Amino acid sequence: MKAYEQTLSLLKTLNLRGVANSLDEVINDAEIRKHSYITVLNTVFTSEISYRVKRRVERNMIGAHFPVIKRIDHFDFGRVKGIGKSEVVNLLDCRWIDNQENVLFFGPPGIGKTHLSIALGVVAVEKGYKVCFERITNLIKLLKTSEIQKTSEYRIKRIMKSDLIIIDEIGYTPIEKREANLFFNLISETYEKASIIVTSNKSFESWAEMMGDSIMTTAMLDRLLHHARVFTLDGESYRIKNQNKEE
Ligand code: ADP
Ligand code: MG
Repeated sequence: MKAYEQTLSLLKTLNLRGVANSLDEVINDAEIRKHSYITVLNTVFTSEISYRVKRRVERNMIGAHFPVIKRIDHFDFGRVKGIGKSEVVNLLDCRWIDNQENVLFFGPPGIGKTHLSIALGVVAVEKGYKVCFERITNLIKLLKTSEIQKTSEYRIKRIMKSDLIIIDEIGYTPIEKREANLFFNLISETYEKASIIVTSNKSFESWAEMMGDSIMTTAMLDRLLHHARVFTLDGESYRIKNQNKEE
């Protein structure tokens, strides 16, 4: 018993919580199945690694700042035009993130742009990628305050180091020229380093007007579209449809 408690204390000192959590099970299993020393060691290290991977995914899921969790399984592809289930399923292997490709969702409100973006982001986090989700209005707020506010600075740093940046709701609110410049810099700095998902209710032709600078908008779109899959969705708003159902 002394050795057991000593082991637990050593594991705590070494910060091997995965081993500590599974110690009883590993020992019992080894005794019952008469495992060799090397098999036991192997199990011990494997349990620590699985624990760390799980913890990192949990931390990254929180750090992504998803407004809600959405899944592809809960998405009804029959209700929306412009995207097929197989196209989305193809994206679930996240190879497009390894290749720093972008995904752009266009279309009217309530059509599932945010749902699909979050679902792709959640899968990416589960596969070990670092993801950040931001609505464009908040992203601009963060960019504007990053030099004077520590929390904004940290968030921007995390965004810049992410494998996937999801920028939601471009187009609902006009962006001032200075704000558009900050946004452009972010796109420019992450170009070919990170993947970006963008959702917008406005087609790119109207982006210049929204951002008040056509040259800069063209340069931004050039980067976003260089390695990109573009989906222009259409159909009836899911929100309105469900509202009608409740009436
Ligand atoms: P958008 O971002 O295009 O405005 P959302 O993704 O926010 O739309 O969708 C609005 C709501 O409807 C969300 O709760 C979303 O989960 C749901 N929704 C939209 N389209 C679908 C769909 N095809 N299947 C299932 N749920 C959907
Ligand atoms: Mg949305």
